[in-house]
Amino acid sequence: MDISSQEIEAIVRKVIAGINPATNVTPDIPAIKSPKYTGDNGVFERVEEAVEAAWKAQRDWVTNYKVEDRHRIVEAIRRCGRDHVEEWSHLIVEETQMGRYEDKVEKHLAVINKTPGPECLTTEAISGDAGLMIEEYAPFGVIGSITPTTNPTETMIHNTISMISGGNSIVFNVHPRAKRVCAECLQALHKAIVDAGGPANLITMLREPTMDTVDMLTSNPKVRLMTGTGGMGMVNALLRSGKKCIGAGAGNPPVIVDETADVELAARKIYEGASFDNNILCFAEKEVFVVSPNYEGFIHNIQKQGAYLLNNSQVEALVKICLEPNKNQSGYEVNKKWVGKNAALILAQIGVQVEDSCRLAVCEVPADHPFVLVEQMMPVLPIVRCSTFEEAMEKAVIAEQGNRHTSSIFSKDVDHMTRFARLIETTIYVKNSCTKAGVGIGGEGHCTMTIAGPTGEGITNAKSFCRRRRCMLAEGGLRII
Ligand code: NAD
Repeated sequence: MDISSQEIEAIVRKVIAGINPATNVTPDIPAIKSPKYTGDNGVFERVEEAVEAAWKAQRDWVTNYKVEDRHRIVEAIRRCGRDHVEEWSHLIVEETQMGRYEDKVEKHLAVINKTPGPECLTTEAISGDAGLMIEEYAPFGVIGSITPTTNPTETMIHNTISMISGGNSIVFNVHPRAKRVCAECLQALHKAIVDAGGPANLITMLREPTMDTVDMLTSNPKVRLMTGTGGMGMVNALLRSGKKCIGAGAGNPPVIVDETADVELAARKIYEGASFDNNILCFAEKEVFVVSPNYEGFIHNIQKQGAYLLNNSQVEALVKICLEPNKNQSGYEVNKKWVGKNAALILAQIGVQVEDSCRLAVCEVPADHPFVLVEQMMPVLPIVRCSTFEEAMEKAVIAEQGNRHTSSIFSKDVDHMTRFARLIETTIYVKNSCTKAGVGIGGEGHCTMTIAGPTGEGITNAKSFCRRRRCMLAEGGLRII
């Protein structure tokens, strides 16, 4: 039974009055302060406060609201998102210093319009001689959500629609380098939820997110599920935590252009995909393996699209700028200073002047080059010449490094398409288009910015953040046959 602080105070006053009936004067007792955890429109200073507030909101959400309310509030979130797309896209570029404004607008619209709401939570029913069984998608409760710097508000919008559609509430631990725009976004979505009649604090975040707050969230018993969208360091840390977790980790997507491919199409789509938002997307094309007969044609066509072809000494100079030795000196890691920068700015560092309309630099390198093996997230695309399709497949699998995230192929040979799919085993596999088509941007199917490869949920939606629960009615009382 829940008792409010006013009720407790009234009881205490009555008891005290009963102890001293002669005076019949209620002594002045201080009001009992129950913590209210109001936050600042969903933004909290402390982890426990955010969790407690989200926990209360979730109890309210599942107890006092119907599925039709979830639909109404998800629609309010979509409207709010559309109203702020330009503003948030500008703010992200300003705060993270990564990516391109116009592409961020496209990413936002994709998650706003193509993230499914509660309609995807269909009930399964089996009716038979032994009765009626239903299985439904039920909430976990409070979900802790860690979000990346590369799609900060896009991930927040997708996860909000998906998680609250499933009856959950959320505490976001956003990337510290995107905390300002994320707070703006969260407060606008929070207001949209409350204005549409939903509970306050259904979505919350920490004003100052850190690694420590990730640990505190993960270890809080009221947080029933953790989701992590970002690099493998974070995903592996979550997987080791012992808490149920959904991990959406790094990719390094290879593309094969085989000897049967339409090279003009391949060059056009790869130029578009690899330069989209300056290649910071986990599912963007990161290296290309071209089978010999099509090699010159592909290089010619991608230059025709506008790509700048680097020579060998320019590639060497660029490696020194874009990469740095990793911690154990066994190879390279990315120099974060250049992640997501425009091609023109990166090329200017090695004395190459190009117009800003040149969105991509390409280079011809061997398969073991660090530009192939390191997930650069820059508009610098390495291209590897292969003698046969088999060689291209083998090298593509090595470059993907077991992430099993995203890959693609340009081919007219169905056998090639099938063989590469089986070998590479990626969550997203695209044929004859940009890899972004695999998350519904220029392709069929719903959109997500949380692609959960390591834990297997794949292209996440509301179902991914729910528990399956079964109800069995024996004796067939409700059956009609
Ligand atoms: P990042 O790993 O630096 O940060 C992601 C989040 O994890 C941030 O909120 C950060 O504060 C937190 N974090 C980082 N290391 C942590 C640790 N050891 N313990 C706890 N928390 C930690 O990644 P980023 O630079 O923001 O994003 C780029 C990376 O994320 C790329 O590798 C990209 O491929 C990947 N990514 C994957 C997806 C997907 O859906 N699979 C989506 C976007 C980005």
